[in-house]
Amino acid sequence: MEEAKKAGNFIEEFVAEDLAPGGTYEGLQVHTRFPPEPNGYLHIGHCKALCIDFGTAEKFGGLCNLRMDDTNPAKEDTEYVDAIKEDIHWLGFDWGDRFFYGSDYFEETYQFAESLIRKGLAYVCELTPEEFKACRGDINQPAVSPWRDRPWEESLDLFRRMRAGEFPDGKYTLRAKIDLASGNFNLRDPVLYRIRHTEHHRQGTKWCIFPMYDFAHPIQDALEGITHSLCTLEYEEHRPLYNWVVDNIDLPHYKPRQIEFARLGINYTVMSKRKLRQLVEEHRVSGWDDPRMPTLCGLRRRGYTPASIKDFTQRIGVSKVDSTVDWALLESCLRDDLNQNAPRVMAVLHPVKLTITNYPEGQTELLDIENNPMNPEAGTRKVPFSRNLYIEAEDFLETPVPKYKRLYPNGPECRLKGAYVIRCTGCEKDESGNIREIFCTYDPQSRGGDPEDGRKIKGAAIQWTDQASAVDAEVRLYDSLFTDPDPDGPDKNFLDYLNPDSLIRLTGCKLEASMGRIPMPAKGTTAQGYQFLRNGYFCLDCNDARPDHLVFNRSVALRDSFRKKSG
Ligand code: ATP
Ligand code: MG
Repeated sequence: MEEAKKAGNFIEEFVAEDLAPGGTYEGLQVHTRFPPEPNGYLHIGHCKALCIDFGTAEKFGGLCNLRMDDTNPAKEDTEYVDAIKEDIHWLGFDWGDRFFYGSDYFEETYQFAESLIRKGLAYVCELTPEEFKACRGDINQPAVSPWRDRPWEESLDLFRRMRAGEFPDGKYTLRAKIDLASGNFNLRDPVLYRIRHTEHHRQGTKWCIFPMYDFAHPIQDALEGITHSLCTLEYEEHRPLYNWVVDNIDLPHYKPRQIEFARLGINYTVMSKRKLRQLVEEHRVSGWDDPRMPTLCGLRRRGYTPASIKDFTQRIGVSKVDSTVDWALLESCLRDDLNQNAPRVMAVLHPVKLTITNYPEGQTELLDIENNPMNPEAGTRKVPFSRNLYIEAEDFLETPVPKYKRLYPNGPECRLKGAYVIRCTGCEKDESGNIREIFCTYDPQSRGGDPEDGRKIKGAAIQWTDQASAVDAEVRLYDSLFTDPDPDGPDKNFLDYLNPDSLIRLTGCKLEASMGRIPMPAKGTTAQGYQFLRNGYFCLDCNDARPDHLVFNRSVALRDSFRKKSG
């Protein structure tokens, strides 16, 4: 039993207690919900909530609803609704036929409000927003509410006329009658309804009064038969109001229970939809799915797999204290996944020509090269090799620096990965002194990379591609979107910390011939990840790549290069 407890997080412990004999929900099926507001795309922070909402339901054999929290009429759009669904399915969660809109409950919510009025638990208030503020009181001073004793019949009449559209915005509010002296300001007769003559994206102009989140949300949970309403810590202070609502309405089922967990923050990025939308609208990024964005569609386009993201949420766990997680942890989850699963290929990002002067002219051989040393079942592929190759510019120096173990004239023997041992003999430069071509000789008795006589190779093993068969590609290298670990910190404007070098485009990169034959990924899917030897993990960009114009994104470097700047 102790073992089992340890295995779960604190939410699962609460749920287990609730289901146990004598618990609040003994004999019931666990039912959670994920309630995004459709005013932007989902980001990595939402993944934590998704894994908790869907994960807890799954763990206890329960159900999880997807509910668009569209109570607030502003800034909501079907584009976002569709994107949210797509992203959740991509992560591997499914709500079955339990997809709802909060706004579909407007009529029931309204009826519950009327019932509270009749019970003397809600009243129509006519304080202006300024007066309302002035009457709120403080820690030592209770709030003042001059309309609190209005007869319920009068409140009911006014409330019905509010609904009928007789009054302008702000003229009246409906308030709960709870406790003007409460130390929790959320209980000082909070507003339940306000007037807003705004078109709603689904309800049109049917409604001109809208329930506040704190009133609507518990009702929606209760109507859907939610047992556990899991949300982030900022709602902890609102829990007494949540409970007040479910305690004072006639529930169709049982009372839902709200449990809070810590919000996920990650350094070097921003995570609020409003700020992410600003980046998009001001064209600071190419769109919501820009591979530098912390959105799910951005991460997907960058090459993140659902498994790596779920692994990340597992590793950060479920805590009750807000904290900031290192972006490097997310990267290392992806690296671990791709290290196991990504085929290795030869790719030269900054190509320079290499000629093997003792290799027969006009000859091409096909070398069998392992696809993935981590997974022998991945087999081998044939890679063309000839006298004329490309290698990385940085694998050659005319005058070596200390400890340089790569190519320089009369330097150490080096391996061409999976091919032969070579030794550099010299180079040719153009008029401006740039290296035009490097020359070397090879040892014909070292096919595969190991010399027959068993001698030790002191130099590095470097990747190469064959000039005649290599395919051209554009390669995009990414760095963090912000230069500051906490761009959203107090007294900061996140836009001041945009990293001007967060995207580097390389053109004319030379990839082994097989990369010219890989399928183009469909938009919105995870493209197959590849390890470009020594350069990191890459995938085709599913928006911009064409068969005649390959575009690759670097998903993640091989090592944690990201942290260099802070360490
Ligand atoms: P944002 O400020 O990004 O708009 P939000 O909380 O308003 O965030 P919602 O669409 O309302 O976004 O969120 C849906 C669910 O996801 C909520 O239950 C919310 O608590 C949760 N959530 C949002 N951001 C995070 C985060 N950074 N970490 C954990 N959960 C989050
Ligand atoms: Mg919200």
